[in-house]
Amino acid sequence: TKQIYSFSEGNMTMRDLLGGKGANLAEMTHLGLPVPPGFTITTAACHEYQQTGKLSDALLAELNQALMALSQQTEKRFGGTSHPLLVSVRSGAAISMPGMMDTILNIGLNDETVAALAAFTHNERFALDSYRRLLAMFGNVVYGIDEAAFDQVLTTVKTQNGYHSDLSLTVNDLQSIITAFKQLYLESGRGAFPQDPSDQLLAAINAVFESWHNHRAQVYRRQNNISESLGTAVNVQEMVFGNAGADSGTGVAFTRNPATGEPALFGEYLLNAQGEDVVAGIRTPQPVAVLQEDMPALYEQLVETAAVLETHYHDMQDLEFTIEKGQMFLLQARSGKRTPTAAVKIAVDQVAEGLISKETALLRVKPESVSEMLHPEFDTADLARQTPLTKGLPASPGAATGQVYFSAAAAKQAAENGQKVVLMRQDTSPEDIEGMIVSQAIVTSRGGMTSHAAVVARGMGATGVVGTHDLVVDAPNQCARVNQQEIHEGDWVSVDGTSGALMLGQIKTTPAAVKGELSTLLNWAKDIADMGVYTNADTPSDFQRALDFDADGIGLTRTEHMFFKPERLLQMRRLILATDAADRKDPLSKLLTMQQADFYELYQLAQTKEVTIRLLDPPLHEFLPHDEKEIQLVATQIGVSPDELRDRVAALKELNPMLGHRGDRLAVTFPDIYEMQVQAIMTAVLRHRKQGLEVQPHIMIPLTDSRAEMAWVRALVEGQIQRMQPETGAKVSYTIGTMMEMPRACVTADQVARESDFFSFGTNDLTQLTFGYSRDDVGAFLPEYLRQGILPADPFQTIDTQGVGELMKMAVNKGRQTKPDLPIGVCGEVGGDPASIAFFEEIGVTYVSCSPFRVPVARLAAARAKL
Ligand code: PEP
Ligand code: MG
Repeated sequence: TKQIYSFSEGNMTMRDLLGGKGANLAEMTHLGLPVPPGFTITTAACHEYQQTGKLSDALLAELNQALMALSQQTEKRFGGTSHPLLVSVRSGAAISMPGMMDTILNIGLNDETVAALAAFTHNERFALDSYRRLLAMFGNVVYGIDEAAFDQVLTTVKTQNGYHSDLSLTVNDLQSIITAFKQLYLESGRGAFPQDPSDQLLAAINAVFESWHNHRAQVYRRQNNISESLGTAVNVQEMVFGNAGADSGTGVAFTRNPATGEPALFGEYLLNAQGEDVVAGIRTPQPVAVLQEDMPALYEQLVETAAVLETHYHDMQDLEFTIEKGQMFLLQARSGKRTPTAAVKIAVDQVAEGLISKETALLRVKPESVSEMLHPEFDTADLARQTPLTKGLPASPGAATGQVYFSAAAAKQAAENGQKVVLMRQDTSPEDIEGMIVSQAIVTSRGGMTSHAAVVARGMGATGVVGTHDLVVDAPNQCARVNQQEIHEGDWVSVDGTSGALMLGQIKTTPAAVKGELSTLLNWAKDIADMGVYTNADTPSDFQRALDFDADGIGLTRTEHMFFKPERLLQMRRLILATDAADRKDPLSKLLTMQQADFYELYQLAQTKEVTIRLLDPPLHEFLPHDEKEIQLVATQIGVSPDELRDRVAALKELNPMLGHRGDRLAVTFPDIYEMQVQAIMTAVLRHRKQGLEVQPHIMIPLTDSRAEMAWVRALVEGQIQRMQPETGAKVSYTIGTMMEMPRACVTADQVARESDFFSFGTNDLTQLTFGYSRDDVGAFLPEYLRQGILPADPFQTIDTQGVGELMKMAVNKGRQTKPDLPIGVCGEVGGDPASIAFFEEIGVTYVSCSPFRVPVARLAAARAKL
């Protein structure tokens, strides 16, 4: 059987026989592209070699014929002394495989042909340089001479002459290096360098076949389950030279602009140069557009080549070309790397051009790259000049510069004075919300990716870096320290929420551009996705931002975030500190008015979209004053003695507040708070009804862990709804759902579902409780767990499918045993994480809800999860 195929005989479907590289070179040849000619020795020939340990006579005969054909085609002769044919020899299995012999270039050079090459290219230095490279590559790969021995020779010559680069080597230097290299062959005991080009070629082919069995290749195959019997092919290809004169050159090009996606050839080239000259930056390459003037016909050819490649591969390509004496060659083409902006534009343009389907377009854009498009970025040049002071966890992407303040109050004051502010704290709590709202960036020394600071920063779209362990924040003294470096109030810092870096001084930012193509792409995603994408929003401005990103509605409103404005906080404090129901009446009615207005506004923005409101969740003591100054102030505000206030605060203090008196447990002990919230919701709904907008309220109960508990809270909520139902006309329809965030609720989901109209997974708490990791303290050990590989990823960012995910799966299945159509959402932080979203699609989740800036990311991920 045939064991050698010329590039014009093969094609892409012959990967198994010709290997990946051989099949691709053949495919490009087949397309009529100017690939330097060559041939591929099949993987079948490799099998035979593995069995017999030698190249068969039949193969040798075929090889002779193939070389003759190549000579004819190129009008050069292998070993010839006027137009010497030089070839490269490359391995190429069906699956790309590091660890095997890769490439030997310039085979065919010897003491005679090197002179012919020098004459042909008018460049003796280049010819000698090629020869010494062949000697080193061949010596190492075929003869097993240590690479270091060749390097040593080079280094010695360079040191003696005070050169910094190989490019300084002169003709004389190269001649003496070649002599020294040949000496290394003699010392190796394997004999002199083979001067006969045919011997060189045979030895190189043998070496490729041998390398299939080398240790590194075997280990790689074992790890990646690649069959030992696959074998490798060998590609033999004519060398072409871009340094053969003024009508030669070399370059790289993209079929479209890889930075912007503009549909025009983009790249650069150098005349009379070899690939390495472009890379070494010795000469400045020309933009490829200049080629249009230098060599118009070749430019045309390049443009046509680009079109042929795109039409064939259905993607933007990155290609390497060489011009040898006015003739263009294509050495490589592969799909090109691109920025997120370019990826989106190219994908959308290619759909319009009929090159790809909408589905393929969606698969071409990574969801995370959409997130990068939506935040401002540091100016790259300016950023490159900075050294980060330290790094924390990259909690909320973005690039921000501002002056440092160590308390929410000081931050707020400074912002009111027109300053750009960075709030720097050990950690944050709901009390800091006002300072956080006005900050460009939030930096904490403690906390993990779902700590308060991280969640709030992402929610507001502020830049956030948390868990910055080297940072010592000394808020009382209004300073911070990283090692010896002090940061004082008012100092300028820059915060990179994408890398987690904290830098001193101001760095310029460039604003995010939301382009038309992105919204086109996201509309396709919306059509294709099954899962809905909602947002977590507590304020009209957050919600508006999410609506601008086309959120389907609100999946989670954390009502407690609405209480952290000074006037409301005061009423909340009066409420908590009241000793009897009569005392609670006044603050409750004040809070009612305010919450009612909040809900009214959210429904107003939502119009016909759904809004899910969660009733109060955090422990009460979070609302209370902590330091002495605040206690004095609050005592005066609410008219009690500081002692009384201190006692009350102490009584409410808990050792484990996150496992304590929070969520629906508050409803059981303070039913009037939930009643007030339901009353506020219903009041807002009824006001809208009067104005012609029908709203169906969705009320969510946090922290539920049993059917009985859910039944109790449901009765409380429904009782209040009933009292508010209109006397005439249709009743307001509503749903009451359970936040699935307690493992026990998941395990008993079939029962809990009897009292629930919907489920929504609170994966932050569910992960906290399943692992037993405090979500506010994981920063202390999580990075080490990730470094040591104990955890594959931060489970607060990417769902832990084996543990937490398994509980979710159980809850989905059990819940739907009871109610087959039960809507099930996810509103924890992982609701915006693409990898997690793929898992949620698998287990049958109905919708995800995430912070506004994650909405487009989640939308794209939801569509891709279906493809
Ligand atoms: C959750 O626990 O996942 C959740 C969404 O609620 P919170 O983060 O407010 O506790
Ligand atoms: Mg929760």
